[in-house]
Amino acid sequence: MPSPALTRSQQSPEYVETLIIGTGFSGLLAAVRLQKKKFNDFLLLERSPELGGTWQINSYPGAEVDVPTGLYSISFIPFPFRKTFSPQSELLEYTNHIIEKFGLRKHARTNQTVSSVSYDESNYLWHIETESGDRYTARFVIDASGVLANPHIPHIPGAASFNGPIFHAGHWDHTVDYAGKRVGVIGSGCSGAQIVPAMADKVSRLTLFMGRAQWILPRTDRQFSAIERYLRTLPGIRHLIRLAIFIFYDIRFVAFRHYPLISAITAPVKRGYLKKLKKQLETYIDDDRLRAHMTPDYAFGSRRLILSNQYVPALGRDNVDVEIGGIECITPTGIRTKDGKDIALDIIVYATGYYAYSDMKRALTFQVYGLGGRNLNSEWEQEIVSYKGMTVSGYPNYFKVNGPNTGSGHSSQISYMEAATGYIVQAIAAVKRDPGIRAIDARADLQAAYVANMRAKMQKTVWQNATCSAFYRRNMTEEVTSLSPEPVTEFIFSRKWFRLSDYHLLK
Ligand SMILES: Cc1cc2nc3c(=O)[nH]c(=O)nc-3n(C[C@H](O)[C@H](O)[C@H](O)COP(=O)(O)OP(=O)(O)OC[C@H]3O[C@@H](n4cnc5c(N)ncnc54)[C@H](O)[C@@H]3O)c2cc1C
Repeated sequence: MPSPALTRSQQSPEYVETLIIGTGFSGLLAAVRLQKKKFNDFLLLERSPELGGTWQINSYPGAEVDVPTGLYSISFIPFPFRKTFSPQSELLEYTNHIIEKFGLRKHARTNQTVSSVSYDESNYLWHIETESGDRYTARFVIDASGVLANPHIPHIPGAASFNGPIFHAGHWDHTVDYAGKRVGVIGSGCSGAQIVPAMADKVSRLTLFMGRAQWILPRTDRQFSAIERYLRTLPGIRHLIRLAIFIFYDIRFVAFRHYPLISAITAPVKRGYLKKLKKQLETYIDDDRLRAHMTPDYAFGSRRLILSNQYVPALGRDNVDVEIGGIECITPTGIRTKDGKDIALDIIVYATGYYAYSDMKRALTFQVYGLGGRNLNSEWEQEIVSYKGMTVSGYPNYFKVNGPNTGSGHSSQISYMEAATGYIVQAIAAVKRDPGIRAIDARADLQAAYVANMRAKMQKTVWQNATCSAFYRRNMTEEVTSLSPEPVTEFIFSRKWFRLSDYHLLK
């Protein structure tokens, strides 16, 4: 008689040497780097039905990168991008190009939401569980689950009563036809500023429920000819273009941190930006109150800059209204403002951003249990600490890409991911090289020194001293937990060489 099939919880877990959680650029980059070292025993787990992360998930109208793709791309994986700032569709093409070129699909499983990773110190292994009950064990875990992967939806009374479609920009409902409809967009940060101009000429009426003023800067964007697209992929030319953009963006860091002499130089530049913004507002916005509302009253760069030539002109269109009085509630037929207006709407879109390390109950998408059953989630709810943003003392062989204080406020996030994955794969190689080492665990003393130094640097930044709320601060107004307080150059060089002596060796 055949033996009854085992349930998933009775089956023994599948072993892989390295388990990567998430398939955005950081997960793919980690996988490619492992492959280059011939460490082919790895598995990527992805909770979505498709691989690809940010640019697979965020397909709202107008979604586009805000750093030129000459820099917002992996330095050693060229692609013939069609324009300076690529739209989401092209970034998704690029993502799929990476997946196909490196044969990553066969290493990946979709619809696998990791619910917990727990360290088994007697066997020096991580046990990984998914929501669907699948189980894995791995020697190394690379957490590439993203930092802007969890949409933030504010609690607005009455939201459930709305009769029409209502969704977050990060989960755009493409079955909803918005042409000729009355659309309300809640939020005027980076995604709101992209959605409004992309939809304004297609809808009958668009109402933007605007938050605080943003620093909005013009940008230079253009299409590349076929020959230029080809030339830009060639080694030499590609590297020079990348270096030029890298330097241009990284120099801007001086505007975000207080350097005694340099501030005297950056102040007129900032005043110049304010003048440009005011001129744009005068050209397109008739309402004095709205112009005043849109003029930032906080330091340049305290929130992510909006680079757009289309946003302010779109706000000046006849079929676009901007509400600045705040939302009282959502009603079955639209939105009631705090100043008593009832605005009739067919569709409501939340362009309200994401949880980064602002709310630690939501920032990590799964539970992490380390040595002695320690729980990273509850520890980070108290205090967010790490070693170099990539490892945490007490959690051996657990590596995080885009960990705390590794975010970019002024340049391409991919530069940070390249540095982090380079370091992580060096660490894995060092452990594998020495058969006597089972695992490595960040030294608590070095971690404490790193955190103290990082916080001291942060005190000098515009982000820590900002008088406005921002998603990169704990609870939106406290300690800066997402952004790095260093220029990218310093970030890269301080993580370029992995040192085993920074870690306790578990033998
Ligand atoms: C709309 C938007 C625009 C952006 N624009 C820019 C820009 O212009 N410039 C810039 O530098 N950066 C930008 N960013 C930041 C962007 O997140 C990074 O540049 C980068 O794409 C992040 O890559 P990642 O792989 O770390 O994370 P993600 O791309 O977010 O990938 C993480 C993946 O992990 C998966 N995942 C999460 N939790 C689990 C789980 N428990 N189990 C299994 N899978 C899980 C997610 O589904 C996702 O696929 C933008 C982000 C967003 C959301």
